[in-house]
Amino acid sequence: MHYIVLDLEWNQPLSYNSSAYRAVGGRLLFELIQIGAVKLNEKLEIVDTFNQLIQPTHYVKLHPRIKRITGISQEDLCDAPQFAEAAGRFHGWCGEDAALLTWGCDDISVLQQNLDFFECGHLPFPQFYDMQRLYGELVGDTKNRAGLKAAMEHFEIEPDESLPFHNALNDAYYTALVFQKFPAPEKVLSCQQTARKLVHEDRQRRHEKCDTIRVARISEAMRGKHTMTPPCPACGKRNELSADYLTLSDGAQQALCVCPDHGLFTVRIKFQKDDKGRRVMVRSCALSEEQSPAYISTKLIQWQNKLSAQRTAQKAQKEAE
Ligand SMILES: [Zn+2]
Repeated sequence: MHYIVLDLEWNQPLSYNSSAYRAVGGRLLFELIQIGAVKLNEKLEIVDTFNQLIQPTHYVKLHPRIKRITGISQEDLCDAPQFAEAAGRFHGWCGEDAALLTWGCDDISVLQQNLDFFECGHLPFPQFYDMQRLYGELVGDTKNRAGLKAAMEHFEIEPDESLPFHNALNDAYYTALVFQKFPAPEKVLSCQQTARKLVHEDRQRRHEKCDTIRVARISEAMRGKHTMTPPCPACGKRNELSADYLTLSDGAQQALCVCPDHGLFTVRIKFQKDDKGRRVMVRSCALSEEQSPAYISTKLIQWQNKLSAQRTAQKAQKEAE
């Protein structure tokens, strides 16, 4: 039997308002653009690798974020085979006696959705297993799902500078190195996994985050870290404001931030009293649906214009009083 460590890269719609997304989004949330895999024998020696770029046919234009993190360009994909052919090649390469291993359950879920969408039901892939779960059991933390990099650090595996992360083959290779380090790697066969259905709501939940924070004074809260360095709704990383708070007509305040990994998001805060009469700040961070660089820069410029108009108006009002 072979162990096959698999990693995938996928493209996402440029906008959730795009016609491409509206046409197929319910059935195809992400479209695969690269399959990378490493084959190991039972002695855990690497015996072969597989690397296949895929030409997308629905979300044809690469999302700028995907382009940046994967280093894959539009030109790289134009001569690549489409999904059905690529999946067929990969299926043939896997062979029949194999166990497929991934880090976490995202890859298998995206793969399954692509197989269903492109009607590749004739390709019965071997059983999938989750190495991330095995790693969690090993380090005694099954709640927080550790990243591949954390596992590499744990096993003192140095990344190779010539093999950047977020390339499907490189990530599969690093995952295979981690697999080789497990004290009882065959235990992965008890970590069976099945594809999760990817739905639009998942995106909503991931990309919009609302918190209620107790505050003493509004003026202090407006200068505090909860307002000045809000977390990205997708990854939780704190970011400085890219455009300051603007007062909206309903009394809420809204600012703009840009997460280096996930792009533009809005921060909306409103002060109110909770059921015990204490003052709270309700803060909601939401990732923008539109993420093209042109859109973001225009949005930031417009915001600055609105801000200076609002400040001028406030100053004029104060002078009149
Ligand atoms: Zn982020």
